[in-house]
Amino acid sequence: MKNILFILSGPSGVGKGTLANLLRERNKNVALSISCTTRQPREHETDGKEYFFISKDEFIKEIESDGFLEYSSHFGNYYGTPRKFVENKLKTHDVMLEIDVNGGLSVKKNYKDAILIFIAPPSFNELKNRLINRHTETEDKIEERLQRIDYEFEKEKQYDYTVINDDLNRAVSELEKIINEEKNK
Ligand code: ADP
Ligand code: 5GP
Repeated sequence: MKNILFILSGPSGVGKGTLANLLRERNKNVALSISCTTRQPREHETDGKEYFFISKDEFIKEIESDGFLEYSSHFGNYYGTPRKFVENKLKTHDVMLEIDVNGGLSVKKNYKDAILIFIAPPSFNELKNRLINRHTETEDKIEERLQRIDYEFEKEKQYDYTVINDDLNRAVSELEKIINEEKNK
């Protein structure tokens, strides 16, 4: 069976990280790519788990040595997908990226068979509540993230699937169904 590159995108706080972690627990053949970022770790984040937290200088060096499959800046920080990890892992596993809509569409240009999955919130208010209840961002940062939602939904039209993250277990099951169907095509 072929290995597939799946790309999860969607507004900040919609639950991409939560969904991706659950999916990996339930499906050992799905490897999660860990991005590099120049943003500061949040309280419960560990280097090498949620992200590789690197300095701006290190990030620029990686760009110069073509170490990223794609990269972009959001909310004043850089984020990039490590090229080698994705290329190597795809030889033996399905790979899942959790990146923003522009990163997703940029990767799709080089990986035509990649499957783009947009994660949508059940409502704008629920998205706002999740960001508030996560307690990781200041009010300003939450506002900044919410203001990007129209832009993300504009790009959603180019995605292959949209999954609404209402009930967590239901949404993971829908993701699993998509993965299985794509692998059996
Ligand atoms: P993202 O990675 O998209 O920024 P997270 O995975 O950090 O989002 O989730 C944001 C918050 O929403 C977290 O506190 C998480 O526990 C919560 N969350 C995720 N999915 C659901 C869901 N289906 N129902 C309720 N809360 C959720
Ligand atoms: P956060 O700071 O909330 O973890 O992430 C902010 C945004 O950066 C999210 O939309 C997330 O999907 C995106 N992101 C995380 N890693 C990458 C990456 O490697 N590349 C791109 N383009 N976006 C990323």
